[in-house]
Amino acid sequence: MNDRSLLRTHALIDGKDVAGDSRFDVTDPATGLKIADVANVGAKDALDAIQAADAAWSVWRATTAKHRHGVLLKWFQLLVSHAEDLARIMTAEQGKPFAEAKGEVAYAASFVEWFAEEAKRVNGESLPEFDKDRRLLVLKQAIGVCAAITPWNFPLAMITRKVAPALAAGCSVVIKPSELTPLTALAAAELATRAGVPAGVLNVVTGDGANSIEIGKVLCASDVVRHISFTGSTEVGRILMAQSAPTIKKLSLELGGNAPFIVFDDADIDSAVEGAIASKFRNAGQTCVCANRIYVQDAVYDEFVQKFAAKVAGLKVGNGFDKEVVQGPLIEEAAIAKVMAHLADAVEKGGRVVAGGIRLERNFFAPTVVADATSNMVCAKEETFGPFAPVFRFIHEEEAVEAANNTEFGLASYFYSRDVGRIFRVGESLEYGMVGINTGLIASEHVPFGGVKQSGLGREGSHHGIEDYLEIKYLCLGDM
Ligand code: ADP
Repeated sequence: MNDRSLLRTHALIDGKDVAGDSRFDVTDPATGLKIADVANVGAKDALDAIQAADAAWSVWRATTAKHRHGVLLKWFQLLVSHAEDLARIMTAEQGKPFAEAKGEVAYAASFVEWFAEEAKRVNGESLPEFDKDRRLLVLKQAIGVCAAITPWNFPLAMITRKVAPALAAGCSVVIKPSELTPLTALAAAELATRAGVPAGVLNVVTGDGANSIEIGKVLCASDVVRHISFTGSTEVGRILMAQSAPTIKKLSLELGGNAPFIVFDDADIDSAVEGAIASKFRNAGQTCVCANRIYVQDAVYDEFVQKFAAKVAGLKVGNGFDKEVVQGPLIEEAAIAKVMAHLADAVEKGGRVVAGGIRLERNFFAPTVVADATSNMVCAKEETFGPFAPVFRFIHEEEAVEAANNTEFGLASYFYSRDVGRIFRVGESLEYGMVGINTGLIASEHVPFGGVKQSGLGREGSHHGIEDYLEIKYLCLGDM
């Protein structure tokens, strides 16, 4: 570490370090060893954080957009200049290869830069009057205190994608990071403080699994918290939505996916193989936009499977700090268990393992490809969230689209084709918030990221990404 003062282990409430009555361990998933213990705060501290955010909000919302732009830009610069340290913390607590962690820091910082700029573009409207003595105006105002509940798979980017638009809009925030990756969140908050985000405007409440549930209840039940942004499982998203019903909170939810990846017979197969690897195996398969089901048209099925399996077998697995490694460990034992269950089910139902198929030491799993996958397998319905790629065969275009849409999820989808008619037909038919065409990578700060159906509500990033943090107010001036 170049700057050891980024290693913070206390919760941050109203600009003060809070050690908590107890602590919880953060471990390195590659080694199983403890890295640090972190403040295990609960309901009472969550209430303190809400109160601090409420008090700070009245000051922050009164700053100019230009001022908030300047603070966010400074935060962006600090994130970029501390990229190595942030990536080191991230690889240690999350496991992703160091190069991928540095990529996430750049991606995370890009949201801060983007929303620093958007801060200055929150424009209202003046409307044509409906009566000649009237003047009609529309204001956009900060929604208020926001809560961000974030996951472990992108410990930094899922925070900045929520916090940057909130701060840009003039809101204050309480972050509840994943109990598995709180150190990255605390380092990011430290840099925000150095950038000039005032005490109380950004608070971080860290808690273990049980306390995360308690903190979640407090955030949802609070009348002061006007918005909750959550990224994580659909199951927890439903709980937060139900808990938020009594206070009619605005919600942004980025939930589970079950991404289809379709390869048509007119596709460039080598490019499709590259795209499938990028989409399926990024972060060892632990992203909500990872291809979960690969559908390949009959005429190119064997060629695709053979080339895909050969490449997958060559992916180097190991500790993320090893330079050659492109596949780190899975986050915890439960993640390994899910991959093994999906694999066993697929094999039992006739799937053919053509790459990997075995658990390696500790939390490592060999990147796996199973050919001859069928719709009755569990992996056709559930998100595996790991390095396991089932490949299904199809004959007709409609059959692939129907199978792709046959899920309650609707986050990312992908397909490969060179036929312009098919590209529009299939692109418009897929019931997904995002469609990658001839690419396996779709995310960037200037696009709207989000899903339909049970994959969530709202969009993050792009000029749309600030809207959830704003309320519309209509001013009607009479007697003019
Ligand atoms: P993942 O699928 O990423 O493991 P989860 O949906 O379990 O994610 O968790 C994502 C985030 O939600 C984490 O910060 C976790 O602590 C938090 N969380 C999990 N369960 C609850 C709950 N019942 N209430 C509030 N937050 C929760």
